[in-house]
Amino acid sequence: MSLFQQTLAQMENAANLVGLTTDAKRILENPERILLVSVPVRMDDGRIKVFEGYRVQHSTIRGPAKGGVRFSPKVDLDEVKALAAWMSIKCAVVDIPLGGGKGGVAVDAKKLSQREKERLTRAYVRAIAPIIGPKKDVPAPDMYTNPQIMAWAVDEFSTLKGENTLGTFTGKPLEVGGSLGRNAATAQGGVYVLDAFLAAKKMKIQTAVVQGFGNAGFHAARILHEKGVKILAVSDSRGGIFCEKGIDPEKAFSAKNAGKLSDYDGATALSNADLLSLPCDALILAARENEITRENADAVSAKIILELANGPVTPEADAILAQKNIPILPDILANAGGVTVSYFELVQNETNFYWSEAEIQNRLKEIMERALFQILETQKMCFHPEISEISGEKEISEFENPEKCVRITLRQAAFIRALKRIEDAMRLRGKI
Ligand code: NAD
Repeated sequence: MSLFQQTLAQMENAANLVGLTTDAKRILENPERILLVSVPVRMDDGRIKVFEGYRVQHSTIRGPAKGGVRFSPKVDLDEVKALAAWMSIKCAVVDIPLGGGKGGVAVDAKKLSQREKERLTRAYVRAIAPIIGPKKDVPAPDMYTNPQIMAWAVDEFSTLKGENTLGTFTGKPLEVGGSLGRNAATAQGGVYVLDAFLAAKKMKIQTAVVQGFGNAGFHAARILHEKGVKILAVSDSRGGIFCEKGIDPEKAFSAKNAGKLSDYDGATALSNADLLSLPCDALILAARENEITRENADAVSAKIILELANGPVTPEADAILAQKNIPILPDILANAGGVTVSYFELVQNETNFYWSEAEIQNRLKEIMERALFQILETQKMCFHPEISEISGEKEISEFENPEKCVRITLRQAAFIRALKRIEDAMRLRGKI
């Protein structure tokens, strides 16, 4: 099953539970716009290389499309379509007035010089310029793109337009219209959700394991470490490290930057497979999609999973983990802190008035906690596929065929909340 088909399957499942209209389903199964571009770049040796690039706008019914850009050799149209659809859902989960988009260039960015990366960024922006802008579609960083790349992107777009349009890209450096708090926003938003969930369920965590040690993973490890949680293991694409006494994320980050994670003093090397099955309280997935599958789900020994990456757990693995009673704080909620602070950045750029770190954190916390509480409320309800409607606080025994009632996961509850919001917008705008 392709990643986009997986996303559609997740949507379909929630859509059926909540009785979404067929019209709304058909619209959401197809992205509004797909742009395929060729991106010619003059390399440092003087040759021209042409890369394939994409920008997909899945839905703009609730606001301008919003979503990151990946520079990765693994990017293809299917992945970008799936990620764009997730963005529509994610923005609706946290109820910010934006739609879903995503972009990418199929390139191994690690093999490019800084100058080549800049030329690639500017060429990609020229190629997608007709369909982006603060009121149309607002790209941001994602895997292997960063604030510097966004600074080049906004410069290229502003040059094309002949005006400063800082709000066309988010995740920019502070010096060129970036927002305080954006760098750590995805991880911070995830930790706000995790804390609120633990408090609601009267649970506590003492240990965590983090897969992926880039923007999302490093900041999550750092914030949890600062809160007193022992980080037992972390990993990147080259493998992981384990330390019984706990890892200091800042020191591990320095080791990674200076060479490799395994240079960290006092840690033992560990494979990614072993890392995922390590006994711990919280498993933080911050690498990429499809990391927990039907093959390794049973080995997971964490008490709770926080999905900072997009789609790290396949639908089959999701079912296995639900049976094992391991709650998953799903990507469409847990990593929405990034897009939420991106939204703050867009608002600040458009009003040309900038907020303090405290204002950003208070607003982010409020939005993330509100979304979690709404999802927990939805999860309490019973769903009956034949009746196709949310049955409120009704007890299972009150249904005619109680055996057909289903209890739902946090992921299903999040999808249900989001799909209802999107369908309401479609109906009110007269699209369905
Ligand atoms: P990044 O490029 O900064 O870091 C990715 C990290 O994952 C790197 O350390 C890389 O070495 C590691 N990695 C890759 N494959 C791995 C593997 N198989 N096992 C272990 N580690 C592996 O990217 P990021 O911005 O931190 O994004 C990570 C995930 O979070 C992606 O799925 C992304 O879509 C998602 N996400 C990021 C943001 C954000 O604001 N950065 C927002 C929402 C979602």
